[in-house]
Amino acid sequence: MLKGEKIWLDGEFVNWDEATVHVMTHTLHYGLGAFEGIRAYETHDGRTAIFRLHEHVRRLRDSAHIALMDNPYSHDQVANAIIETVRINHFKSCYIRPLLFLGHGAMGLGAVNPTRLAIAAFPWGAYLGEEGIQNGIRAKVSSFARTHVNTNMSKGKICGHYVTSILAKREVQKAGYEEAIMLDTHGFVAEGTGENIFMVRDGMIKTPPLGASILAGVTREVVVRIVRDIIMAENPGVSFSEELFSRDQLYTADEVLVCGTAAEITPIREVDDRRIGLGKPGPITRRVQEIFFRIVRGQEPRYQDWLTFV
Ligand code: PMP
Repeated sequence: MLKGEKIWLDGEFVNWDEATVHVMTHTLHYGLGAFEGIRAYETHDGRTAIFRLHEHVRRLRDSAHIALMDNPYSHDQVANAIIETVRINHFKSCYIRPLLFLGHGAMGLGAVNPTRLAIAAFPWGAYLGEEGIQNGIRAKVSSFARTHVNTNMSKGKICGHYVTSILAKREVQKAGYEEAIMLDTHGFVAEGTGENIFMVRDGMIKTPPLGASILAGVTREVVVRIVRDIIMAENPGVSFSEELFSRDQLYTADEVLVCGTAAEITPIREVDDRRIGLGKPGPITRRVQEIFFRIVRGQEPRYQDWLTFV
């Protein structure tokens, strides 16, 4: 792993190799912690901008709120610490990982140890591969369900939730696929292990609603905006709705894409060995990708306020 120089830990910068914790750290045992994944991009004019910083900080604070974790940091403190972390590490572009966790002290589920905050930044390329972004990936529906809306709190990006995602991811990777698609406990399509999902058929673009067992993805919202503001304006025949759909609706889709901070916009060219559309990224996916990468590089003035320059 390519590392950064300094990690922000509880209010000060420490050297990357010295940013360690005690093995009795509560979150390490029970998984109650909250984290974010954020990207900073080099913009077209050579500057660096954090993409949708404030939405990520808000979600981090929401996650802590949902998880009943004390959070000693204000929105501005977290946002400024993230900006400082990118600055001090001199990255032009990077992935940023803030992690709120419970420190050591007491053990047991009822313990309320002080909340700690770490912020690391490091280079990270295309999560599902550059080839995947260009040509699409092969996905498989996992045998592991996304948890019921009343089991894990899906609107929180909470550490322990990712065990199910890892099981799903490992299951399909061992079978030779690149990403898992998770269904909810009713059998409807929910999301990828670390991405939201969209499908297109006959010009109708669909994504599961926020009330489903899905994370409220920041990139999901970006795609919705691109669809509403640009794709629909360019193509009068295109419509958009947030609704549930089944796995066989994916099989017969013209286009499927997954999106997330790490995965950006990745086309799916096959689901459960069924070719999607022509087996290569379709025109709507291509256009969404094109606009997305223009936005993060600062080339779309109407979305300039989504960028925080460092
Ligand atoms: N769903 C899950 C389960 C995720 O972990 C992620 C990544 N944070 C997403 C969706 C996409 O969210 P975002 O676009 O905010 O990165």
